[in-house]
Amino acid sequence: MLHTVAAFDRIGEENAFAVLARATLLAAQGKDVINLGIGQPDFRTPEHIVEAAIKALRDGHHGYTPATGLLATREAVVRRTMTTTGIEVSPENVVILPGGKPTMYATIVLFGEPGAEILYPDPGFPIYRSMIEFTGAAPVPVPIREENGFAFSAEETLALITPKTRLLIVNSPANPTGGVTPKSEIDKLVAGLEKHPHVAVLSDEIYDVMTYDGETHHSLLNYPEIRDRLIVLNGWSKTWAMTGWRMGWSIWPDQLYDKIRKLAVNCWSCVNAPSQYAGIAAIDGPQDEVEKMMRAFDRRRKIVVEGLNSLPGVSCITPKGAFYAFPNIKDTGWKAKPLASALLEDKSVALIGGPDFGILGEGYLRLSYANSEESILRAIDRMDDFLRSGA
Ligand code: PLP
Repeated sequence: MLHTVAAFDRIGEENAFAVLARATLLAAQGKDVINLGIGQPDFRTPEHIVEAAIKALRDGHHGYTPATGLLATREAVVRRTMTTTGIEVSPENVVILPGGKPTMYATIVLFGEPGAEILYPDPGFPIYRSMIEFTGAAPVPVPIREENGFAFSAEETLALITPKTRLLIVNSPANPTGGVTPKSEIDKLVAGLEKHPHVAVLSDEIYDVMTYDGETHHSLLNYPEIRDRLIVLNGWSKTWAMTGWRMGWSIWPDQLYDKIRKLAVNCWSCVNAPSQYAGIAAIDGPQDEVEKMMRAFDRRRKIVVEGLNSLPGVSCITPKGAFYAFPNIKDTGWKAKPLASALLEDKSVALIGGPDFGILGEGYLRLSYANSEESILRAIDRMDDFLRSGA
């Protein structure tokens, strides 16, 4: 990778942060803004987790930790992985990082270089493409289609692999669509990947426990045949409402572990110690707050989907995971980004246009339902007014 000025000029954005800034400004000017833009739980971090961080500070945990994270925090991740996947990983394969994004960065810079191709979901989390372009590798979008319930299609994904493909990025449950890729499709994908040993896999499983209607997430850790080229991204941000703590983890194959360790030493030294103690409390402590949050998301999911489907020209399939709805607005006569911007400026409803997540995002909006039921209903009413007024 060439870290030239040109490479930095290729870095993109996550427009959700720009929308959040605009929404905050409008609110400061006295507008009653309803924020369905940013992808973060609207709940507080559970109290026992906050207490664990305070205790760590009082106990004097103020210094550096090992670059890959405290052994106790990595062991907590091992226990958590066993609980959610039934797979035993070693703490020697776990890295604690400042959020989920650093794993994305580390993996993409590890495999990306001019001449390489990296496959990523479209629509998908915008940072994938941005970081691929940073490295000079060619971004190759994997279409994620509404008609497939916004799941990956193994066939379509495998068809895009060439001798130049270095990395495939998979995300389920997914941002921005809420799609969950079923086990049958992942089985097919992995079977196909066995024929392409030159392709590494980054599985972004940050929404792993956020599924609904009895749907379950199927981790790529279940496939020993690709473990030596699999990196699993996960973290505390979404599950325990800890986006501002900057706490993530990832699971690395033996031969890459030292590379990420060195990157950590060079870039961030370690994650702040109190957060790492809080991370242990999150994993080992009571999960009732998480369950309460998930029940609230589930209720809102139904309200948002029903509301969206009542709007003229809008249809929305029921998302099976995460906390996003991705309605189709193709029959409204609007393009997605102008509609998102008009809804914010005229109706004070903040949401994101689908094109911010990829080429196939045109014709869709992303709503995060991390907001109260009452606010969601008011936002739907405002959208209804707007669309019926023929604005
Ligand atoms: N991966 C996906 C799919 C996400 O949606 C997000 C955040 O929105 C992240 C990773 C990054 O999480 P973090 O805030 O822990 O860096």
